[in-house]
Amino acid sequence: MNGVDELEVMIELSKRRGFFWPSFSIYGGSAGFNDYGPLGSILKSRIYQEWKNEFTRIGAIEIDSPNLTPEAVLKASGHVDKFIDMAITCSKCKTRYKLENVIESNGGSKIPETLEEAKAIVENGNFKCQKCGTVLTDPYEFHLMFETRSGNETMYLRPETAQGIFVNFKLLLNYNRGKLPMIVIQQGKGFRNEISPRQGIIRQKEFNMAEAEVFLEPDSQDNFIPRDENQITLHDMYSREHKITLLNAVKSHIIGSNDHAFFMETVYRLAIKIGISKERLRFRQHRKDELAHYSKECWDLEVRINDSWLEIAGIADRGTYDLSRHIRESGQNMFYEGEKIARVLEPSIGMDRMIAAAIISNMKKRENEYSYLTFPSEMAPYRVAILPLQKKDGLLEKAKEIFAKIQEIEPYSVFDESGAIGRRYARQDEIGTPFCITVDYDTLERDVVTIRERNSMKQIREVKVDTIVNYPVFLKNPVLDEFKKMNLN
Ligand code: AMP
Repeated sequence: MNGVDELEVMIELSKRRGFFWPSFSIYGGSAGFNDYGPLGSILKSRIYQEWKNEFTRIGAIEIDSPNLTPEAVLKASGHVDKFIDMAITCSKCKTRYKLENVIESNGGSKIPETLEEAKAIVENGNFKCQKCGTVLTDPYEFHLMFETRSGNETMYLRPETAQGIFVNFKLLLNYNRGKLPMIVIQQGKGFRNEISPRQGIIRQKEFNMAEAEVFLEPDSQDNFIPRDENQITLHDMYSREHKITLLNAVKSHIIGSNDHAFFMETVYRLAIKIGISKERLRFRQHRKDELAHYSKECWDLEVRINDSWLEIAGIADRGTYDLSRHIRESGQNMFYEGEKIARVLEPSIGMDRMIAAAIISNMKKRENEYSYLTFPSEMAPYRVAILPLQKKDGLLEKAKEIFAKIQEIEPYSVFDESGAIGRRYARQDEIGTPFCITVDYDTLERDVVTIRERNSMKQIREVKVDTIVNYPVFLKNPVLDEFKKMNLN
């Protein structure tokens, strides 16, 4: 979509049609929080399910641990001391900025590691407030975790789901009969007191994560080998661009290991499966000064939105950092086979960003300016809509009868009787429903319906009702091919 702000269009569509919207709006709202509406809730669970399928298929096990986490855990993980951003507030209009963003928007790339360094950069930078033009001074450290209490204990809302997995390593290893590799996944909320939450679900204070911790034998290699032969785009830490297969990227030492590349591939495959086009995707390697406190090598999967790149997932090599710290701080035996400590790869996905990217990547416009969403059929919130041509002459009742039967085989079907048929098609197109079934006078006479496919807008007439209600599979495939196979036309 040229010349339009894709984010703005996506946010407007999402609010109007019920994917997501800002929370608490009747009380003026609160920046950084969003609700998923009816369609967004379905889409979110579909994407979570695909993610689980991808990981379960390669042997992952799942856990579900609490959001509230005792201070001791996050002290050990380093978050209490290091999960800090530098911020700067305009002395005149009080707008608060993340220092990193101010430096980047002024052409710099060096992220300060200490407050002293930050002060020096700000003093020399002559950075101005984007709102009122005042020169920005006095950067300060800003803690990103939300703190609360449980009884007398200090707790934090978890900034990532990962620690819930690490603290359970011993129990999980037992469950896994002492064997590595072991892949553990967890879905759930992460909480970060972001300095400038913005862009709908892209940067929030409470967000949805899909994380996996892959525990490997310390010195093992090639536990997993990438399989895909397709070339993908890699942007390495020296800003060099490669179009290369993941396997060759490992051979050429661009990516550190086959294990790392394999999990990049797993996340990439998910992105493609949920309908993000590969032209919009690339992996970008973190520069040394960007790496999180626990990470040795990290590749972000990024999506192109409005000609800039947004991180949607990170695949980090956490080494033995977390387990070593928990062994030391808890005094527990969390070793593997004697004194060994498992090393960890972490594919961590921001679910909200996956959802935003899936919507944006599938937004299309017809010549008449009507917009439609080209979700793959499996991903579309509703897979089929049943539309009576008219409400009179018994068509409404007949359509309801067919709808009830279709709901038995496809719960995610929707009934729409209001407005002209063209408007109803447009409404379904806009939310990405791949098929519409129209019930008309022929249905009353001969028990046949018309099926319309969203992308091509092609219609197939005279489809027997019996065939539809007995063959749910047609809803999951490109309609024309499937129709041919089933000899429907
Ligand atoms: P990280 O642990 O920082 O690599 O975060 C994992 C993933 O969560 C990132 O790749 C993002 O997609 C997503 N994410 C991080 N922070 C936020 C946020 N404030 N709002 C929404 N998604 C986020």
